[in-house]
Amino acid sequence: MSELTGTCLCGGVRFAVRVPFERVIVCHCASCKKISGGGGTANGRARSSDITILEGDEQVTTYQPAEGSAKSFCSRCGTNLFGGGWPDSEQCSVRLSALDEPFAGPIESHNFVRSLAPWEVLPDDGAERNDVRAP
Ligand SMILES: [Zn+2]
Ligand SMILES: [Zn+2]
Repeated sequence: MSELTGTCLCGGVRFAVRVPFERVIVCHCASCKKISGGGGTANGRARSSDITILEGDEQVTTYQPAEGSAKSFCSRCGTNLFGGGWPDSEQCSVRLSALDEPFAGPIESHNFVRSLAPWEVLPDDGAERNDVRAP
């Protein structure tokens, strides 16, 4: 077990997460497109209890959409931090884009590929393709 650290764009929020991740997924669903400003989100699956907010706890805001799981972001700069129901769910997602060091991969699954943007091309990365969520 080791730890990775992450930050938001404004630097107000700092966190640590225990790794290895249970699974590494890129999600191309409509919600992830909205919140990411791009093709979707890249996520490491962790347990909520594996995440420690080191700084800026008061800046972390959690939004619970009508459908799907809660998503958390920095209320100052909007950086996506966690999804999958953090902090209340047993398992959650850590946005790989928030990690301080570029995550080396590999990506294990592309989820919601049925929602792929018309301009988006999946990389030849050998990862699973799932129409919706991976089993
Ligand atoms: Zn921020
Ligand atoms: Zn998604």
